[in-house]
Amino acid sequence: MAAQVQRMSRLMVKTLRDDPADAEVLSHKLLVRGGFVRRTAAGVWSWLPLGKKVLANVERIVREEMDAIGAQEVLLPALLPKEPYEATGRWEEYGAELFRLNDRKGGDYLLGPTHEEIFTLLVKDQCTSYKDLPVILYQIQTKYRDEARPRAGILRGREFTMKDSYSFDTADEGLAESYALHRAAYQRIFERLGLDYRICAATAGAMGGSKSEEFLAPAAAGEDTFADCPACDYAANTEAVSFELKPVDGSAVPAVEELDTPDTPTIETLAAYMQVPASATLKNLLVKVDGEIIGIGVPGDREVDMDKVEAHFAPAAVEMVGAEDFEERPDLVKGYVGPQGLEKVTFLADPRIAPGTAWITGANKDGVHAKNVVAGRDFEVDAYVDVVVVQEGDPCPNCGTGLKLDRAIEIGHIFQLGRKYADAFQLDVLGQNGKPVRVTMGSYGVGVSRAVAALAEQHADDKGLVWPKEVAPADVHVVAAGKAAQTELALSVSEQLAEAGVRVLVDDRAGVSPGVKFTDAELLGVPTILVAGRRTAEGVVELKDRRTGEREELPVAEAIAKIVG
Ligand code: ATP
Ligand code: MG
Repeated sequence: MAAQVQRMSRLMVKTLRDDPADAEVLSHKLLVRGGFVRRTAAGVWSWLPLGKKVLANVERIVREEMDAIGAQEVLLPALLPKEPYEATGRWEEYGAELFRLNDRKGGDYLLGPTHEEIFTLLVKDQCTSYKDLPVILYQIQTKYRDEARPRAGILRGREFTMKDSYSFDTADEGLAESYALHRAAYQRIFERLGLDYRICAATAGAMGGSKSEEFLAPAAAGEDTFADCPACDYAANTEAVSFELKPVDGSAVPAVEELDTPDTPTIETLAAYMQVPASATLKNLLVKVDGEIIGIGVPGDREVDMDKVEAHFAPAAVEMVGAEDFEERPDLVKGYVGPQGLEKVTFLADPRIAPGTAWITGANKDGVHAKNVVAGRDFEVDAYVDVVVVQEGDPCPNCGTGLKLDRAIEIGHIFQLGRKYADAFQLDVLGQNGKPVRVTMGSYGVGVSRAVAALAEQHADDKGLVWPKEVAPADVHVVAAGKAAQTELALSVSEQLAEAGVRVLVDDRAGVSPGVKFTDAELLGVPTILVAGRRTAEGVVELKDRRTGEREELPVAEAIAKIVG
């Protein structure tokens, strides 16, 4: 099928030599400099002709792979009524991230950040029998989230394009299958896009539900940190890394002994005074959840990850205990808290505080600590929770090897939601036996616009972008060095290539120096560059591989044959 020739003389593209002043990350710099996108407001972007082509290519790949698993494309509105989001509590829970607005009659609306509610209602309306399921619906649509720090260009927009899909099944096995279909489709999508990615175990977060995995694209600009095992295939978002609980034999540990340790309210002062490593001490954090004081114990050398603590108690809010709480509770001695002898305090602990392990910790008296305090003997742990900040070298939960930590961009996320949304809207279908069955759901997202930025992060060099083949704005960038004959040859080669189905961008601009054209070609990142230059009279052109920099001179017919393949 014949393709199109895009002449740069008629293309709206203004390339920039310098990085935009507000750009922090590579993709932002390059996409703006190459004239792919333009900032309209904080976190709100316009897609210019070349950028729109790349975005459309990403959309096409996503669409093809979603269609291939039998998903049906729909398009739901972005402007949504409040009521469904009130029914699930997300109208409130989403907090400041939700764009809320009023219509002229004062009615409350929102701009959809994700569409679980609306899809659930759609299926409730359309599907009544188990025979109507399973069904997978998707859309490629604009989402709105009033992100706290819209940064890094289109990596984190306040308006962005997402492919979101939702699966509806009558049984758990069906959900597992829909999830597996998505997982495989996402693997094909990211492979075709040319993104390097890892599938990581994730926490379900605000979405609710059980099993969830993230597709992370390693990149310095990424805002996620993931733990990667160098020895096995384990990879997980650091939010989801767990530590195996391994009870030890503590029967030989002598009885608890209290020690005067004046002026040692911090782990550092305590460790220095006792001349022990901080890891021998037990640090006890006190938080307040729904008015109840809860203790959380972690080894003294470890930091508590408050995001994990909040996720553990969500949707209940977590507060730190303050001076007034200590006043009210004289049993809690600031700086000298220990779980032994603490009453009326639920005590959670990191799995490193396993039964049988012995610790130096507060003795609940000012200036006094206790040693030989054994978990399971001297105090009970009500529940083990993974709340410490994961560190490089922490053991892989699978094989024990030291984990590596890397930065990455979240490009996709798949969830087994279960019945949370179906319960909120009583989404039932008539089962085989004539009785209603509650539907179980999955929800799955690809950051379509974010993928363009992730591609730019992973496929660039000091000269500019280097698009993978399937997403590139063209297959070949033909450069006419400048003279009339060169332009003539460039245009004729372009036509021939297009005839053969090759997408061509031809730089036929008059009055632009060859140097500027070459620099622009490298910045724009089309995979193959063909130059009609010095040897035009002989009918010889230069072919250059944008990625490897390899170049060769070939007669026109051979060059065309090589490109067409
Ligand atoms: P993040 O942790 O990066 O804020 P999220 O976990 O809130 O993302 P999901 O609700 O899982 O995102 O949305 C599905 C996908 O949409 C994400 O995997 C990501 O690729 C994309 N996405 C989410 N927020 C943005 C944004 N502000 N800009 C661009 N893409 C986004
Ligand atoms: Mg996510």
